[in-house]
Formats: sequence, C-alpha cells, structure tokens
Amino acid sequence: MVKEADPVDPSHALFDRFVQAQTCKETQQNFIELCRHLEVEPRDYKHFYSKLKDRLNYWKAKDLWQKIDKRGAHPDYEQGQACHQNKCLVLGAGPCGLRTAIELALLGAQVVVLEKRLSFTRNNVLHLWLYTIRDLLNLGAKKFYGRFCSGSIHHISIRQLQLILLKLALILGVEVHTGVTFEGLQEPSGSTGWRAQVSPASHTAAAFEFDVFISAGGGRCVPDGFKIKELRGKLAIGITANFVNRHTKQEAQVQEISGVARIYNQQFFQALQSEIGVDLENIVYYKDDTHYFVMTAKKGSLLKKGVIKQDFSDVNQLLAPANVNQEALQKYAYEAADFSTDHGLPDLEFAKNHAGHLDVAMFDFTCMQRAENASLVKERKGKRLLIALVGDSLVEPFWPLGTGIARGFLAAFDTAWMVRSWGKGVPPLEVLAERESVYQLLSQTTPENTSKNYAAYSIDPSTRYPNVNLSSIKPMQVKHRLYDTEDGK
Ligand code: FAD
Repeated sequence: MVKEADPVDPSHALFDRFVQAQTCKETQQNFIELCRHLEVEPRDYKHFYSKLKDRLNYWKAKDLWQKIDKRGAHPDYEQGQACHQNKCLVLGAGPCGLRTAIELALLGAQVVVLEKRLSFTRNNVLHLWLYTIRDLLNLGAKKFYGRFCSGSIHHISIRQLQLILLKLALILGVEVHTGVTFEGLQEPSGSTGWRAQVSPASHTAAAFEFDVFISAGGGRCVPDGFKIKELRGKLAIGITANFVNRHTKQEAQVQEISGVARIYNQQFFQALQSEIGVDLENIVYYKDDTHYFVMTAKKGSLLKKGVIKQDFSDVNQLLAPANVNQEALQKYAYEAADFSTDHGLPDLEFAKNHAGHLDVAMFDFTCMQRAENASLVKERKGKRLLIALVGDSLVEPFWPLGTGIARGFLAAFDTAWMVRSWGKGVPPLEVLAERESVYQLLSQTTPENTSKNYAAYSIDPSTRYPNVNLSSIKPMQVKHRLYDTEDGK
C-alpha cells in the first residue's frame, strides 16, 4: 500500500492534526494554531467559517465544507440572519450542549459554551437512532472519526461524540471555554445585561452579555425557576463496564448484543444465573473504542455475590459507596461480560476511567427526573433572557434503552427553533407556548412514531414529529408560570 505523503503546506498539516485530534486539549490547541497560521480570528464569529474556508485551500477539507454549506443553506437559518443579533450562553459541552451550540451558530447567533471539565473522558457508549446517524453523517462525522457507525449496531462513545461536535462547533465560530464552571446567573444592572457568574471569576466569559441561556449541564443540573418531576419506577440498578479493545481479529469476531430483554431470551438469562449466579434483567454489549457493557442487575444476586453489602429499602442507602464492594462489583461485571460473549473476548482487562480507576460503575435508574417545562423567560430592568433546558437536564434517559442522544438531539433542534422565533421578534409568550407545546411530545418519542423522512429533518419540529400541534398550549397558559418579571405581572 502506498503511504499518503504528508502535506507540504503547514496549514494543511495543522488541519489534519485538528481533524484527527483525539483529546479535547489537542483539538483546542491545534485549532488555535491553525487559526494563527491562517490569520483568522475565531472571535469574529460572523465571518470566521467563511474566512477559514477561503484561506484553507485544501482538497481534504472540501467535502466537509460541502456538508456544512449544505446544512447551512437550509431556509430555516435564513443565511445566518435569523439570529444575527442574539448572544447565547450554553452551559455544558456534553453532546447536547454542543449540538445545540452548532444549530445556534448556523442561525447566526454569537455562541459561548462553558465546560467545567478540561477533558472528555467518558468511555461509555451511546446507542444511536437512525436519524441521529444521518444527522451526524450529514455534518461530516466520518471525516473526524473514520470508524463512525461502521459496525453492525450503531453507537458511539460519549467522548468521541463530544470530540466530533466540538470540532464542528469550533469551525462554526463557537467559543468553547473548558475549565470554566458556571456558578449562576447575574441579573442586569445599570447598562449591563444578563451575565454569568463563573469560576474562575476572572475568566473573560464573566463579561459576556447574553439574551439566551441554554442549560445543558446534564444529570440533575437545573437552573432556578424550573420544576422537576420525579418518576419512580420499580427498583432498577444499572451497571456499566468498559474493557480494553485491542482491535484484534478474535475480538472483531465476537457478536455485539443490542439489548437482550429477559422476556425474549429466558434461556440465556437462566443459564447466566444458574452457572455464575449473575441475575440480570437485560444486557447490552457494544464494541467501540472499548468493549462496553450496560446491564440491569437484580438486587438479590448483587447481595448474594457481595456487591451490595447490606440490604436497605431506600435506594440511596442501598447504592451508597460505603455499601458497595468495588472488587465484588468488578468481578460481577467481568463474569457477566465474559459469559454473555461466550468467553470469546480474550484477556478481558478493564479500561481506565477519568480518575485512572477500573471503568466499572453502578447507577440507580429507579427514580428518573424530567423537567415540567423546557423554557422560561426572565425579565429584569427591561432586559429579557430566554432560558432553555436541553439534554439529560431536561429529561433523564434510561441508558439501556439509549434514549439520551436521540431525545437529546430532538430537544436541541426544538430549542434552536425556539431561539429562531426569539431572534425573529416573535412575542415571548408565543415563543414559550410553542416550545412547551412541542415539549409535550418528547418523552413519548420513539423511532417508530417520529418521521422516517430523515433527509427532511430540520430544526422545524413539523419535519420530525408527524401531526405535531404547535399551539396545543396557549400563550395565556404560560404567562404566570414561565414569564418571570420583577413585579410579577
Ligand atoms: P452530559 O453529557 O452529562 O454533559 C453535560 C456537561 O456539562 C458535562 O460535560 C459537564 O461537565 C458540564 N457541566 C455540568 N455542570 C457544569 C457547570 N456548572 N459549569 C460548566 N459545565 C458544567 N448514557 C448512555 O446511554 N449510556 C451510558 O453508559 C451512559 N453513561 C454515562 C456515564 C456518566 C458518568 C454520565 C454523566 C452520563 C452517562 N450517560 C450514558 C448519559 C449520556 O452521557 C447523556 O445522555 C448524553 O451525554 C447527553 O447528555 P448531555 O449533553 O445532556 O449531558
């Protein structure tokens, strides 16, 4: 095989390094160097992408530009004019925060993302619905990650997805600050508008004034003003485990498991229980950067195998770190992984997590949260702020079903559609009422009841939800709940 020659133009080599970067830090460093070399200023967000494209005359970048241009030419964005006066702060560079940031940039807004972590480290793997695959392929995912969806089951590790989206966001002129924690909103005073309190307090992001705030902090990170509903189901204990993938031929031959629900494969689960004492409701195995397993385990077998030390009816006490024997948990996950792959993965060795520990963890899915509303407006000193939740902080996903990214991206698009209306000067109560009308559908979405015409998907909800009623909630219904003013009127 002929080895491709290294590019002679230094900017081409820098672009290649940026595209192939495998860490958040490397991505940011290569991006800065590329911008410096091409003399393009990333803060000039309105012209950044077109300047980058013009100055980097490199054949390897052409198909990426084509893809981005095709997306950007969609009428919804009005050639980047729909939100050209809006300034958006996004809390969190998880997949949903970054996916939303990309849409807001395409709408022409100035977008700043704050991420408290310095690195992307989550090995865990996300199941992708067909529409998300199409969406990511259309954005050039394969350019950044050649193995994207090349296997029989479609999935991607959280960190790889973050890397793809980070690179796209940077190309579109989004400012991403890592190592910066959002601490709260700072109300307008004098001539200053809405700002964020951040840590470190001296960071330049503290001076950024914005009229849109997207909260995508994941998990249970929800700003003031949003009410949370708890949905308590039957006890559900999830275990995730990642093992080193050495990409050998033998490993390649082992079949992935797309989610064996107990009712469908009683024999397998009975054998698992009788032969090794591991009692599961379901198990998923994906071969990605790592060999990733997620399973729902029954309490009885966790107690019997010494994973949980003492039985408690309260799930927080039950799964408290002090009540979990880590070594027994590792053994439990190891045995389940080994058995369910028919002992086909040689030398199973745990991968390491961000803290350098063996990457196995136990999570509680008994109590799932979702926000009662997806948006609200705060008005102080005559300055309005549109606030929206996206991703896990809007609706917590049940990992074994892989709803996190699917519903997360749907909400990212719905949110971008709302910001578009906001930017176009639609009255705030109408903006909120429409967003809440659409939000009512989110928790019920499945691959079956969403549109199959993926090519037509856009930020417009009617392209994705058949028969959506955009005015099922009326402006008057949100007036007192979601429009928060100083005098409460
Ligand atoms: P996240 O991916 O959680 O991103 C939120 C981001 O916000 C994080 O990067 C966080 O550092 C940042 N942040 C939070 N607070 C602040 C703040 N105050 N200031 C600045 N930044 C902040 N799903 C699965 O389907 N399978 C799995 O195995 C799985 N494992 C997971 C393991 C962990 C440890 C976590 C946290 C989540 C896991 N998920 C899993 C859920 C999945 O990651 C999410 O559904 C998906 O990433 C979309 O989430 P998101 O973008 O809304 O939030």
